[in-house]
Amino acid sequence: SLVYLNGQLTPLSDAKISVLDRGFIFGDGVYEVIPMYHRQLFRADQHFARLFRSMRAISLLNPHAKEEWMELVRNVTGAHASDQQLVYIQVTRGVAKRGHAFPEASYPTVFIMTNPLVTPSEDVRAQGVACVSMEDSRWLHCDIKSISLLGNVLAAQYAAEHDAVETIQFRDGFLTEGASSNVWVVRHGRLMAPPKDKHILEGIRYGLIEELCAACGIMLEVRHIARAEVFHAEEILITSAGKEILPVASIDGHPVGSGKPGPVFQRLYAAYQQAKPRPLT
Ligand code: PLP
Repeated sequence: SLVYLNGQLTPLSDAKISVLDRGFIFGDGVYEVIPMYHRQLFRADQHFARLFRSMRAISLLNPHAKEEWMELVRNVTGAHASDQQLVYIQVTRGVAKRGHAFPEASYPTVFIMTNPLVTPSEDVRAQGVACVSMEDSRWLHCDIKSISLLGNVLAAQYAAEHDAVETIQFRDGFLTEGASSNVWVVRHGRLMAPPKDKHILEGIRYGLIEELCAACGIMLEVRHIARAEVFHAEEILITSAGKEILPVASIDGHPVGSGKPGPVFQRLYAAYQQAKPRPLT
């Protein structure tokens, strides 16, 4: 399958970078993941805005204008058969002699690949998913979509080892987010989310859910959410580009609410499906 690396479309097996790439040596880079439905990127503007924010946040010079980025992504997705894809973009500070501080001269490494987008099955959505919880051990710039993901990796592995789909993290007793998803809690019929600060990545679905709540008349309360509130929630939802919206059936083995997907999930899921790009006629 074809990928883009530093100016060229090449087969994945031929795409090679230097061992001195600062992405490899320091995790010095950022990334983005964009879902595509019926060959149209979903919320492309927001995803590119976040990519540019991430680059600015680490003082990485953006090597391309937005239109160029769109063209590069089109070239990769156009070479793939699937109409539903999950596009991965990574930018690192490039190749330089090893030294922690920024090198005087380096050119960013740009890598783009895509895979078929497989959204959760109807069965998974109907059952809800199992989650586990753990203390958030990540750094304090979780708002940057950094490729340094060791904390997220360890959280995801913890879920995998406990037959769970996601690990819901808490910092000092308050909800942050999943290993690779945002977490939402329903209490008294109201949706709640932690604030967009340095403790979480502002998912592109975070903004979308805000819009869908406004459109559907669901009350959204953004505030710090204590651990006990999560464990006594009527519903818990997780969102990400690949998972869309998923209902959480259990956390650490305790059923969430009735243990079945609830009404707020059903309404938001329906609204999400409506918001997605339609087939081009
Ligand atoms: N939080 C983290 C840590 C993530 O890795 C992701 C990515 O999927 C999200 C939240 C959700 O972001 P988005 O809705 O843009 O996929």
